[in-house]
Amino acid sequence: MDRNGKSHRLPAVQKRVQTAFRFCLISGWVFAAAFLILVSSASAAPRAQHVFIISIDGGKPAVIAQSSMPELSRLVTEGGCTWEARTINPSITLPSHTSMLTGVEPRKHKVTWNTWKPGAGTVQVPTVFSIAKEAGFSTAMFVGKEKFKHLLVPNSVDHFEFDEAMGSAVVTSVVGDSKPRKTSTVSAKIVAASAASHIRNAKPDLCFIHFTDPDDAGHKHGWGSPQQIKAFADVDQALAQVTLAIRDAGLAKSSVLIITADHGGHAKTHGGKTPDDMTIPWIVWGCGVKNQFSITSAVNTCDTTATALWLLGIPQPRSLQGLPVKTAFSFAD
Ligand SMILES: [Zn+2]
Repeated sequence: MDRNGKSHRLPAVQKRVQTAFRFCLISGWVFAAAFLILVSSASAAPRAQHVFIISIDGGKPAVIAQSSMPELSRLVTEGGCTWEARTINPSITLPSHTSMLTGVEPRKHKVTWNTWKPGAGTVQVPTVFSIAKEAGFSTAMFVGKEKFKHLLVPNSVDHFEFDEAMGSAVVTSVVGDSKPRKTSTVSAKIVAASAASHIRNAKPDLCFIHFTDPDDAGHKHGWGSPQQIKAFADVDQALAQVTLAIRDAGLAKSSVLIITADHGGHAKTHGGKTPDDMTIPWIVWGCGVKNQFSITSAVNTCDTTATALWLLGIPQPRSLQGLPVKTAFSFAD
């Protein structure tokens, strides 16, 4: 009521218009805020222009320590490293690489098998490649085992190479297998040559390279055998081919390399929960990486995807179970 005793109750139509106006105003603000958040997170400047994830299959730190790997030693000296990172359980190749390259554990990614199964399709959660591709980055994968095809989410990898014609037969058996499996793998030397050529020509933004030799030698001769120690030396030469290509392509100052493994091993197998099988190296080298830095925080294989996305300035999906290993870098955030 006002001083004249007249009611200030608004006519119904006017009230509805005002309510609608308020609703538009509020939702407009909400929309604008959401848009700003989206724009600001989507346009985060990349911390590195190129990220290379290199996996040494069966790369047990204790055996690496016995091997001659001068290129890896250089990267460790110039970069950041922990020899006590952890893979997932079961510590076997395909589930572990799927966690490494999706940032989620097997319970979420559901790739629990360890062979190439043409009928099984591709992983049903986003991969580091599908997320990066959606954000506009170019992607590539070079692998020594066919089963990585399960990680090829449609339209996520611009260039995939598994050169079956160059493969050789390997018999493997992991914890839980009822019988040994015969498969075909491509050596690190061949994988590195393909990767090096592509790096020089295409300069991919996100590139995954897989070296299988130590795993092959471990299954045949044992983890820590002279043959496996030689296989690690071969991987080091392959690694040097890749780093040379990165330099030749002019990418050394704008790249980060993450070098890790899918599992360790013991005797002639792996797949268990023991430190022998589950401990992996996690090494970073490149732009923004602290020099001679010892990573003391706990690192899990799911952190590889998180770190790669963070380096490329891509917002982390909420579903991710890994975290970027920020302590190894000198970036402000
Ligand atoms: Zn493996």
